[in-house]
Order: sequence, then structure tokens, then C-alpha cells
Amino acid sequence: MIEIGLFFLLLPLAAWTGWMAAKGQRSRRRKQGSLLSSQYFRGLNYLLNEESDKAIEEFVKLAEVNRNTVDTHMALGTLFRRRGEMDKAIRYHKHIISRPNLDDEQRERVLFELAMDYMRAGLLDRAESLFLELTDSDFMAGRARRHLLDIYQQEKDWLKAVEQAQSLHLRDGTADVGLIAQLYCELADEALIRDDLESATQHLRQARRYLPGIGRARLIEGRIAQNSLDFSLAADCFREACERDPDLLVLCASELVECHRQSGRMPELMEWLRPDSSRPDSNASVLLLARLTAESDPERAAHLLLEGLEKRCTVRGLEYLMELLNTHELGLSDVGPQLIRDLMQRLMQGQPVYRCEQCGFSGTTHHWMCPSCRSCNSTRVIRGVLGE
Ligand SMILES: [Zn+2]
Repeated sequence: MIEIGLFFLLLPLAAWTGWMAAKGQRSRRRKQGSLLSSQYFRGLNYLLNEESDKAIEEFVKLAEVNRNTVDTHMALGTLFRRRGEMDKAIRYHKHIISRPNLDDEQRERVLFELAMDYMRAGLLDRAESLFLELTDSDFMAGRARRHLLDIYQQEKDWLKAVEQAQSLHLRDGTADVGLIAQLYCELADEALIRDDLESATQHLRQARRYLPGIGRARLIEGRIAQNSLDFSLAADCFREACERDPDLLVLCASELVECHRQSGRMPELMEWLRPDSSRPDSNASVLLLARLTAESDPERAAHLLLEGLEKRCTVRGLEYLMELLNTHELGLSDVGPQLIRDLMQRLMQGQPVYRCEQCGFSGTTHHWMCPSCRSCNSTRVIRGVLGE
């Protein structure tokens, strides 16, 4: 309400500027001046009584939309949108655009605001058609394309999204190559689901053109090879994908194992999974290696796991160790209460005890006033797996 109120204070100025430019006669101006004040106060009155529909009507009468007042009118439309009053924002922007005396740039800017209203209201198809109209605009093309890209990503229309992203990239380099490569990977994934392996391969080639080292492309290539029953090639692809992006190991562990098994290359995989200083610190490979080792030698698997946990203790690792000991009834001489306590302490090391409810600032010290957001008494004890 304050924003709209402030806005109304600007109205007379906008209207006055318009009239000055119109070079009306002095007497005519005086007459309009008195008309302005009565309509202005009537509008303000409606506004104070929360009758914003009537307030809009008064305001529209108050200052005719023309080249000099269009910015002010647009600002009111945008205020409605910010307040979430979408029907009013849309009606208002439509009203502005229906005026005959706007120049091209002004018309396109209002069209853009109207498209933003539709987008905010969730009417994506209407927003899309307006943004598309603006892609040839000298003034709004870049911004329109960015929103089109957003819409197509929301709708998972990857082909159209890629078209907009490429256009933005060529135009001013604002769409990053990582995004374009990911969009091509989405297309490849879709093609793979349709069993269209040729299209999938073509999309991946494009993805690599934008981001040569993209791990996801190698992962999809592995799946293509697996679908074509070329397990050895698939195994290579999955391993390379994990080398490029270690997080992918969690995502494709079962496929990785399956393809190595099918192609008789399990010993090679076990060797590859061994802790390696060249790979970033991750327990995923230790855990997978332990699971595979447990198939033939559970005791050795437990020892591998223990070594891994000593370097980096995780809940998952500890849980799997307990599972191994329990399932195979292993009585390892070096696994006793002392070791479990030691591992637990490693697990808790550095874990925050307190967290601010206002801003999320966390640490091991309690603060009555949050050092980050200065809220009073907002610091609470963390509950949950590693909390109290
Ligand atoms: Zn805080």
C-alpha cells in the first residue's frame, strides 16, 4: 500500500509533464489543474478505502497515457505485479498498450511488462507468445529471449530452450556454455528413452562442442553403449565419466559394476576403485570396493572399510561396517568399543551444535545475539542425526 501511495504522490508530476509538452493554452491548463486535484483526491480516497479498482479508474482518467506519462503508468502496473495483484497488473498494462500514441520502443516495453505479468500468473503460453513477438525487437530481444529460455526450461522443452540459449550466446555471450551443454544432454537423454541412439549421439557431440570435458555426456554415451550391448565400451565410458566428475560414481555405480561384470573386467574395476591420491577425497569408491570385495572375502572388505573410515568417517560407511560385521558374524580383533568410539568422535568433529533460526548461521558456540544477522535469542540447538 505504501508503494502505491508513494506512486500517487508522483501522479500530478507525471500529468503536469504531459500537459506541458502538449503546449496547451494557459486557461486550459488551469481548468485541467483543478480537474487534476479533484480526481487525484478522489483516487487517493479510493486507495485509502482499499478500493483499488476505482482508484485505477480515477488514475487513468487523471493522466492520459501518452509518450510523456507512459513510464509512470508502467510503474504502477509493475507495482501491482510486485504486490501479486496479477489481474490488475494485466488489465492495466493492456490498457496502456491499447493507447494509439505510443512509439515502438514504448509499445515493446509495455508488451514485455505484460508478458512478465502472464509469466508471474503462471500463464506461460501467453507469456511465451508475447516474448516471441519481442525476439525481433531492437530494445527488448535479449531480455525476452532470457525469459523464453526460462519458460522452455520449466516446460522441459529442451529443443526450444537450446535454440534460445544459442541465440543468446551468439548475441552477447549471456547464456553460459555449461547450460547449453546440459540442455544437449537433456535432449540426448530423451532420445535414449525413445531408443533413438543416432540422435542421442548427435546431441552429445553438440554438448561436447560447448563443454569438451562434460562428464554427463560420457555417462550417457556409456548408457548408449550398454543399450547396444557393447559392455566393454560402456565400462570405459562410465569410468571416464567418473574421472571427469567424481560425484557421478554414486549415480552410476550399479551400471558401472554391471558392465564390468558383463565384459569380464571385474578385477580391473576393483583395481580402479582402490584409493588413489589422484582422485578427490570420497568414500563412494571405498564403499563400492568394500561391497564388491565382500562378495568373496567379507573380512578383507571390513578392513578396507576401516582404512577408509579412518581417513574420512561417514555415517554411511559406519553403517555398512556394522552391517558387514553383523551379517558375516565377523569378530575382528581390532573392532572394539574403543574403535567405534573413535570413529564416532571423528564423525562429530567440527559438526555445528547451534544454528540461528533467522539466517542459518551455525557453529559450536552459543550466541545470545547472532553474530551474522544480529537477531536476539534466535540461536537454537540443532536436532537431527548429528545434533542433540
Ligand atoms: Zn542469524
